[in-house]
Amino acid sequence: MKILVPVKRVVDYNVKVRVKGDGTGVDIANVKMSMNPFDEIAIEEAVRLKEAGIATEIIAVSAGVAGCQETLRTAMAIGADRGILIETDIELQPLAVAKLLKAVCEKEQPQLVLCGKQAIDDDANQTGQMLAALMGWPQATFASKVIIAGGMATVTREVDGGLETIEIALPAVVSADLRLNEPRYATLPNIMKAKKKPLDVISPATLDVDVTPRLKTLKVAEPAKRSAGVKVANVADLVARLKNEAKVI
Ligand code: AMP
Repeated sequence: MKILVPVKRVVDYNVKVRVKGDGTGVDIANVKMSMNPFDEIAIEEAVRLKEAGIATEIIAVSAGVAGCQETLRTAMAIGADRGILIETDIELQPLAVAKLLKAVCEKEQPQLVLCGKQAIDDDANQTGQMLAALMGWPQATFASKVIIAGGMATVTREVDGGLETIEIALPAVVSADLRLNEPRYATLPNIMKAKKKPLDVISPATLDVDVTPRLKTLKVAEPAKRSAGVKVANVADLVARLKNEAKVI
């Protein structure tokens, strides 16, 4: 079974992002970029399925600027067998990425696409769902457990009320949630080995996909600053303030 894992290059989760002065977006010049954390979890799950003898090949795919090669090498250091970079300088929106992934799925014929539940930069939570719709495949989002057997995937999903377990037929799209696993660290020997693994670079035009943005960002702004808190003298003071100032009791 072939597994395709889409991996996105995003601003590292430890970076405190700054909004550009003109409000057109966030400043990513000289900022540390890393693999989207949920995609790391997706890669880890694919590697575990390969180690269990269920998957035979793991293909990591990234769409974006040339720097995404680094993200693909990280995926290969964790255990992906090869990488595909769909290189473009155009800012990609989820629908464009889903169309690109559809074209790759048609070529590679994976049985499973294991993506992240959302990218931590745009927080869209759309790409996997759009891909499943475009392919006409079943989907199981927010997975915290995945069991593959007999051409089916049994997926436990994190939903508002707790956990939901569903069974879907393969090929399918599954998106990884935080509790699915704890990704391993890439070891130095594996980082070195990953440098020699195959990495194809193609363009959206090769896949015959138009990636022109459909949505326009009107304005990006910093969240409002939190005002300073106050120390209360005792419980009676707290209750009085909640009653008279905050008016919540
Ligand atoms: P989003 O819909 O943007 O929140 O992203 C959900 C998931 O889709 C991510 O966790 C990735 O697995 C995948 N994805 C989104 N954008 C890209 C991209 N440019 N390249 C590769 N995978 C992507």
